[in-house]
Parts: sequence; structure tokens; C-alpha cells
Amino acid sequence: MSAIEAENIFSDAILRLDRAFEYAQMDPEVLERLKYPRTSIQVSIPVRMDDGTLRVFEGYRVRYDDSRGPGKGGIRFHPQVSLPEVKALAFWMTCKCAVVGIPFGGAKGGITVNPKELSRLELERLSRGFVQQIADFIGPETDVPAPDVYTNAMIMGWMMDEYSKLRRQRMPAVITGKPIPLGGSLGRDDATGRGAYYCIKELESRRDWQPREMRVAVQGFGNAGQHVARLLHADGYKIVAVSDSQGAIYHPDGFDVPSLAYMKNESRRLEAVYCDGSVCESVNAERLSNGELLELDVDLLIPAAMENQITAENAHRIKAPVVVEVANGPTTSEADEILNGKGTLIVPDILANAGGVTVSYFEWVQNKAGYYWPLEEVHAKLHTIMVREFDNVYELMNEQQIDMRTAAYALALRRIGEAISAGGTGRYFSGNDA
Ligand code: NAD
Repeated sequence: MSAIEAENIFSDAILRLDRAFEYAQMDPEVLERLKYPRTSIQVSIPVRMDDGTLRVFEGYRVRYDDSRGPGKGGIRFHPQVSLPEVKALAFWMTCKCAVVGIPFGGAKGGITVNPKELSRLELERLSRGFVQQIADFIGPETDVPAPDVYTNAMIMGWMMDEYSKLRRQRMPAVITGKPIPLGGSLGRDDATGRGAYYCIKELESRRDWQPREMRVAVQGFGNAGQHVARLLHADGYKIVAVSDSQGAIYHPDGFDVPSLAYMKNESRRLEAVYCDGSVCESVNAERLSNGELLELDVDLLIPAAMENQITAENAHRIKAPVVVEVANGPTTSEADEILNGKGTLIVPDILANAGGVTVSYFEWVQNKAGYYWPLEEVHAKLHTIMVREFDNVYELMNEQQIDMRTAAYALALRRIGEAISAGGTGRYFSGNDA
């Protein structure tokens, strides 16, 4: 993604705020404040490579807003990471934490790097080097990172260890998404997919869906996409199409998701479904492009890959009446208008994929308490929050006759607004709020 595209994602995100403002019943000062990140830091990270040479990487951390609690958001390792992109992602995190009502603000970080080109030791040096640079900027009470694209539990473990060494005390609550033996929470691995699944189950009961009649297409068969597909499949939903960066496969009768996930995770490519060999040959499917998957005649479309997949160019051709956004920012604001005009229901990213950050919050709570919960407790607490907030957003949507995204942003804005206004706004200080 170019810097201009990344900047556009940010301005697109801010557009949604403007739209939600009239339903948020908040002081205009709050809106103005939320158009700018609170703090951004750019660092350089010198890394000694395995061949003895030195490479310097650029990294960023943005704390967008901390009115409701410490910053919270992942760290992305990707060649296209840029400050505008990190800013947009940090903004989304602010709204997401507010929508699910967890006591965090929003933040995000990233390093411009292709991690696939680094050895494991180089990756560890880079991860630890990044923490050394941002150590004064993060902390359990200031800003709590987590994994994002191309970072994982082991990297979170290295980062926690480095931070703890710098502070000369063990501080697991500085970061979430850690391996379980280092203070990670049970249930974090499938939390994003599970949160989306709970949202879909709420729609199921409101719309009287019969799972066996529901045809579902999932774009992006990675962590989030696989888990939501697995849970829906177990309930009888027909997962008729899935894809990865190499392309999509389609079968009108639906796939056996566990074996598809097994193949994908073993081979790292869905395309391997077509490879030579017994397991591959047993899958009978039509091959499609990622674009074609989005336009399939299905009952439920789940974008779970990347930003900007549904745009003004293809929105007219989207046939699914319901879109559940598991990826961050898969629909542009222009596409939103087209889909809303057609009556498509979009369960927005800041609600649909908030299960991940919710269980990250549980991990932080458990770390601070030094007391760890069984899996059932994590699932039950996640279920309570997702159902409650889905209901709040759905009610606001119906009450105000607005789309679900605007309702989610309005709810987020109300909550952020309440926190900011509690410290006093212009109306209070000029004595006009009597
Ligand atoms: P992942 O890396 O595990 O999976 C991404 C999948 O998308 C991979 O299978 C990849 O091959 C595929 N992909 C990449 N480009 C594609 C394209 N153009 N078309 C189709 N497929 C493509 O990542 P993930 O953690 O599952 O995250 C997926 C999305 O969900 C991202 O937008 C991420 O920000 C969002 N998200 C994830 C979490 C989480 O906890 N994992 C939480 C919130 C949001």
C-alpha cells in the first residue's frame, strides 16, 4: 500500500466519525479532538544481521487516544507499514475498544520489514530492538501492544521478556497475545473468529436463519477466517467458498472446513488443494479469483483478509445480503454507500472483529491479578460482551434508522465522548452547560 493509499484509509476512517456524530449526542469538541492522534513515535532499529552486516529498520507506535484507558493495539511487521497506516489502525482500535466497552484507548505499531526475509535470530533481534526503542512509550498502564499481521505469540514473548529486562521486573501485562506459559490467556487464539461467530448467531436468531440453508463465502483463510468458518461449519452452515492470497475455491455443497484448514496449515497454501496426492485429490472444487469470491451468490460474505477489498468498483456486484467484516477496513466508504443503498446489512469491523481485543483485555486482567481463568470462563465472558454490544449497536441502528456501521461508530463516540467530557469541555469551562 502506498503512503497516499494509507493516508486515504485514514481520511476514510475519519469520514465515518463525521457521519456518526449526529447520532452520538456528544460535544463537538470531542469530535475535533478525535481527528488527531494523541502521540506518534517513529524509531530506527539497527539490527546486526547473521552475515555481520548492519541493517536499520523503521518502526512506529501511535497512541491514538487514551481517554478511556491505556492504549491498546497490535504490532504489524510488513513491508508496507507506514505512519499513516499505523495511524488509521490506531484510530480503529480506539473505536473498537469503545464499542465493546473495554477500558482501553486505541494504539497500533509496526515495523517496515518483510519478516519472511529474516532468519529467526534476526527476527528476535529486531523484535527486542523495537522494544528497546519504544520502552518509554509502552507499559501496562500506558499502552499495551499485541500481535497483528506477521507477528505472533513467540514475538510477543520476546517483547515481554525484553521489556521486563529493561524494567528489571517481570511485567507480563505490558503486552498481550503471549504464549500461554508466559502469561497468555486461554482462548486468545480463536477469539477474533469466535467474536464474529457470536455476532452471526445473534443475526441468526433475529432473522430466523436455518444454518443448513446458509451459504457462506470467506475471503482470507488465516487465523480469523479459519476460526469463524470452523465454528459456523460445526453448526451446519455451508462454507461454499474460501480463499487465500493465491486464490479461491468454491463448491456449492460446502467444504469440510477442518480438513481444509488442516491442508492449508500444512501446505501454507489453499492452492495445494489442487496438488498431486491423495488428500488434495479428495477435494472437489472450482477455482475462482478473490474478486469472484466476493461476488458469489451467497447468504453471508465474510471478508477476513485485508483492507479495501469491497470498493466502488465491485460493490454493485456484491450479491450477499449480509457482510460480516472480520478483516479491518475491508469496505471503503464509497462501497459502504452503494451497499447500504442496496439494503445490504454490514456488521462493521469495529464490532465483528472485536473478539480478539476483548480476550486481549482478559489476558491483561489475568496478568495484573496473577490469576488465570479456565477456557469456559473466557468463552462465557467473551459471549456476554459480544452479545451485549451487538444488541446495543443493533438497537441503535433500528432506533435511529441508520446503518449498522454508523450505529457502531455512534456508540463508540458516545463512550469516548463521555470520558473526554468528564474532564470538562468548552461548554463547561465557559459556564454554558447549566
Ligand atoms: P492471517 O495472516 O492469519 O490471515 C490472513 C489470510 O488472508 C491468509 O490466509 C492470507 O493468505 C490471506 N490473504 C492475504 N491477502 C489476501 C487477498 N488479497 N485475498 C484473499 N486472501 C488474502 O491474518 P489474520 O490474523 O487472520 O487477520 C486477517 C484480518 O483480520 C486482518 O485484516 C486483521 O487485521 C484482521 N483482524 C485479525 C485479528 C486477529 O486476532 N487475528 C483481530 C482483529 C482483526
